[in-house]
Amino acid sequence: MAIYYVFTQNHPLLQILVAVKELGWLCCAIIIKNIERSIMNKVETIYLKDYKAPPFTIKTCDLVFELFEEHTQVTSLLNIVKMDKGAKDLVLDSVELELLEIYLNDKKLDVSSYVIEDAHLRVLDVPEMFKLIIINKIYPHLNSELEGLYKSGAIFCTQNEPEGFRRITPYIDRPDVMAVLKTTLVADRGRYPVLLSNGNRESNFRLDDGRHGVTWFDPHPKPSYLFALVAGDLGVVEDKFITKSSKYVRLAIYTDRGNESKCKHAMKSLKEAMSWDEEVYGREYDLSVYNIVAVDSFNMGAMENKGLNIFNSAYVLADEESATDANFMGIQSVIAHEYFHNWTGNRITCRDWFQLTLKEGLTVFRDQCFSADLNSKEVQRIEDVKALRERQFVEDASPTAHPIQPDSYMAINNFYTATVYEKGAEVIRMLHTLLGEKKYRAAMDLYFEKFDGQAVRTDDFLWAMSSAGKLGFGAV
Ligand SMILES: [Zn+2]
Repeated sequence: MAIYYVFTQNHPLLQILVAVKELGWLCCAIIIKNIERSIMNKVETIYLKDYKAPPFTIKTCDLVFELFEEHTQVTSLLNIVKMDKGAKDLVLDSVELELLEIYLNDKKLDVSSYVIEDAHLRVLDVPEMFKLIIINKIYPHLNSELEGLYKSGAIFCTQNEPEGFRRITPYIDRPDVMAVLKTTLVADRGRYPVLLSNGNRESNFRLDDGRHGVTWFDPHPKPSYLFALVAGDLGVVEDKFITKSSKYVRLAIYTDRGNESKCKHAMKSLKEAMSWDEEVYGREYDLSVYNIVAVDSFNMGAMENKGLNIFNSAYVLADEESATDANFMGIQSVIAHEYFHNWTGNRITCRDWFQLTLKEGLTVFRDQCFSADLNSKEVQRIEDVKALRERQFVEDASPTAHPIQPDSYMAINNFYTATVYEKGAEVIRMLHTLLGEKKYRAAMDLYFEKFDGQAVRTDDFLWAMSSAGKLGFGAV
């Protein structure tokens, strides 16, 4: 995610002032929500030392979204496996969801078989392996939480990092549960001609009542925070990219109608990022389509959902008439950042949110190097250090100073900080300097080879660096 440094642990008033200064009132609203939540709820502190592997995991998840103006019905079919033989009840994260029906291995459960708790759905006494179907209702047009599925203007949109998915359907909403997802969206054809989700487009159909549907399938297992959907009447700019191994990838940027002509620079930047990652890190894109949505109604900066990046249009749209050089460079950098997450964040993800810098620090370092290679190394470094001094040094000198991997948090939203992102990137840069280009690349190759498809820790990254670079630190 590219919404840097605003979620600090500062005094609430200071948080609001910093947020307004850095990103305007929209992002400030998120901070206010967090503060409101921590005042209203009894917030527990979560400790890294208390981490426990999930007692259950989800292998596959088939989702059907029936989108209507006044509500959305979500049907999820989960294939679940018990990992801890001693576990009895399945506990799913579930926040403000209206539960309609639950089926376990096709048998409808009555109310004696499950308990609806404060922020959970507890299914009692479940077997070793089973199929769970949950049908629930949500109200995206009333969702003002700025996470989960919401309707803004005429567009349905999602934001699930870090813990938004639990507002869509009951799920084990943690990054170390990685499932293969298939998503079907059904909506009015006239209002929502564009229906997007993660992965490759598998099929589409028309219904007699003026509605239509599209099914998307993502073969790569991923955590729920990378799930996305967008539905609306959007303009599109298309292009293509041929990967190093000659695979065809359709590129598309969807935007509010009328903004299509402002997407050229973003599209060029995307292709540059795809080439650079192949050349410098040996990483090819892994789906046959790469979709970007850039709309005014997206409330975060940018989000790296697998195969469907969503941006606020401010981070994508530019033309020679109105944008400055700095705007063009900013777009190049943020498009690349979200693209680079495909390998550092999505294919290899974080075991838990304490490892956030593993995906963010590393990806910031990668986008800094990309911008340096494509523009001026010296200017890029001066800009990066300037940003570090202006934001991260201030954080380090304040009562909110924290390490790039914290020991505890009350709300993970508070840790999308300059320290996790930018100081995290400096730590990776330090490793890069210690190892030198060749050994660093060998270490990254080892990291990708060993941990692809897994949810890992910063220690695992250090192990790869140490093994390939013979630096004598890090242990798995
Ligand atoms: Zn990011």
